[in-house]
Amino acid sequence: MKTYSYSQLNTFKSCPEKYKIMYVDEKKNLKEGIEAFMGKRVHDTLEWVYSVYNIKRDVSFKDIEEFYDDNWTKNWHKEIYIVRDLDTEYYYSLGKHCLGNYYYKYGPEFSQNVYATEMMINFKLNGFTFRGIIDRLDYDGEGNWIIHDYKTGKTLLSNPAVKKDGQLALYQMAIAQENTIKDIKSVELRWHFLQQGIERSVVHTEESLNKIKENLKGMVHNIEDADSVEVGGFQPKETMLCNWCHYWEDCSIKDSTNPSNRAL
Ligand code: SF4
Repeated sequence: MKTYSYSQLNTFKSCPEKYKIMYVDEKKNLKEGIEAFMGKRVHDTLEWVYSVYNIKRDVSFKDIEEFYDDNWTKNWHKEIYIVRDLDTEYYYSLGKHCLGNYYYKYGPEFSQNVYATEMMINFKLNGFTFRGIIDRLDYDGEGNWIIHDYKTGKTLLSNPAVKKDGQLALYQMAIAQENTIKDIKSVELRWHFLQQGIERSVVHTEESLNKIKENLKGMVHNIEDADSVEVGGFQPKETMLCNWCHYWEDCSIKDSTNPSNRAL
């Protein structure tokens, strides 16, 4: 049986052909957009902030900068690309800006009740298998849980938009099935929009969670329907997002390679 992730569902929604190239044909591609690269460095840094190394001490912003710098350098590779008319320095500084906004709110103690960071989850929903990674899960010891998600992109979702968001709702369904988690009185979903220094938070009712569940089920059915057609199930969808797609060589409607510039 296939295993789905939320990012797979989103890829299908944004372009079914890209989904086919990536997840059906499993074409390997080492190219990476610099926005994704920067996002990973910020996630790594925040994972480190809440790691055992820092449990009993305050973390200064200088410590954070040092970790981020080192992580950026160690992970840098030759297949990072920039679409916009901006340079590497801009994205490097933007990552620091995201961390600065987070530090301003939570540093230097970072005293939240962290249960897990970068937590891998595998679970079933309506007969489908899903996997995902929760950025951070907090637990107050009294049945109250918070699922955190760090966003480094420039899109700031509105309150109505986060209420409809499937990703963290999916993770809420997942922790309810997790063997190690027995005591759930409440679950809050919290998004950290780090560029803007703004947080959004949602507590779902059973009804709102069921609506999202139906929507997710529909998204998987759409993929399985496309997969069941011999030819033409996965149509290309040309949008602005093509600029960030590194599969132009495999795409049926592109006749060149992605023109974005290699980051230096
Ligand atoms: S280039 Fe655009 S249309 Fe082609 S696969 Fe990528 S996202 Fe889809």
